[in-house]
Amino acid sequence: MGILEVKGVGKRFGGLQALGDVNLSVQENTVHAIIGPNGAGKSTLLNCLVGKLIPDTGSVMFDGQSVLGRSPHEINQMGISRVFQTPEIFTDLTVLENVMIPCFARRDGSFRMHALGAVSNERDMLEKAEKMLSDVNMLEKAHLHAGSLSRGDKRRLEMAMCLVQEPRLLLLDEPTAGMARADTNNTIDLLKEIKTKRDITMCIIEHDMHVVFSLADRITVLAQGTPLVEDTPQNIKGHPKVREAYLGE
Ligand code: ADP
Ligand code: MG
Repeated sequence: MGILEVKGVGKRFGGLQALGDVNLSVQENTVHAIIGPNGAGKSTLLNCLVGKLIPDTGSVMFDGQSVLGRSPHEINQMGISRVFQTPEIFTDLTVLENVMIPCFARRDGSFRMHALGAVSNERDMLEKAEKMLSDVNMLEKAHLHAGSLSRGDKRRLEMAMCLVQEPRLLLLDEPTAGMARADTNNTIDLLKEIKTKRDITMCIIEHDMHVVFSLADRITVLAQGTPLVEDTPQNIKGHPKVREAYLGE
């Protein structure tokens, strides 16, 4: 039984069957990549996991509980966090202030500091945010304006804003899209660090095969809204159906 169990999920937009019959099982503390051509339904699937879309059919279970019918906020409270394709940060605030915002708004949705449990006062919160920045090697940039950061650092900051909420499942939709090679490598290193330092499960949608093969424990190939194959990176590389349908060979 995986921490995330997707069974028979289908989603239609008007006449278009974006997802057919998706089954996916993501094991705890692994990195599971979802690859597939443009329009395969990858983002639609992710949207169904975070409550942004409601599937027409099937079930989505996280840690034994159904996520269907819950709001994005409730799903976030269950321990699922998502990194957006474009970093969603507050450009006019400092790096540190950005990381403190999700501390205020943690799990129970309350903005009252004393409701935070482990984080009981402002100084604790500051310490927690600084520790987080240190974990992602951004402490020396704590007082810079977030808007002045490089694309790679913005991504790093956004990751810190997700991780400070202590999610159990992190969903990433093309985290290196549009990045220069140096920032992409930076992101790979960061995700590898996160994977070793924390008890966390990651589900990553990614076009860049270098990123996929550097990080993934399992890979699902999605084509036309249906999983084509799921296997280890090694087996996926050599799979004739995958080479034909996805790698264009
Ligand atoms: P991917 O992320 O794999 O590139 P998407 O999940 O974004 O694919 O899209 C799958 C298909 O569903 C595409 O044909 C896309 O045009 C369509 N689609 C996605 N979102 C919507 C929407 N909100 N309304 C209508 N069609 C959509
Ligand atoms: Mg997409």
